[in-house]
Amino acid sequence: MRTTTLAHAFVESIPRDLDPGILYVSIDFRTTMHLCACGCGNEVVLPLRRTAWSLTYDGESVSINPSVGNWTFECRSHYWIRRGSVHWAGNWNDQQVAAGRERTLVERGVISTHADDSQKRTRVREAVAAAGARLGLGRRSRP
Ligand SMILES: [Zn+2]
Repeated sequence: MRTTTLAHAFVESIPRDLDPGILYVSIDFRTTMHLCACGCGNEVVLPLRRTAWSLTYDGESVSINPSVGNWTFECRSHYWIRRGSVHWAGNWNDQQVAAGRERTLVERGVISTHADDSQKRTRVREAVAAAGARLGLGRRSRP
């Protein structure tokens, strides 16, 4: 079943078993985790980095930027988390995914607006690889 709201839980470390409908946030580990909002049961790791995701807490609810695209899962679900609510977005093809990542990195000043296309592609690849390497490609392996 699709999740429509995500309550936040600030935790020191991410618990072993995740409850659906909860966005776990660990400031110490600069990461968040939740079960995919489509209900497939996959765990979604969103590292909090300038080159990955950012989190906004308004005192009541959390928002995540940019959108969550679970492109490595079979469900390929894509949604925004805004003020604790899940807003579904369309499925993106690989080009749209790459363009979206590039836009975010340009907005955050990671990529210069003057960079040419190949420089941009390289920086996007580096950012994705760096975020993935630190956290096992967005998935947490279970013992
Ligand atoms: Zn899913």
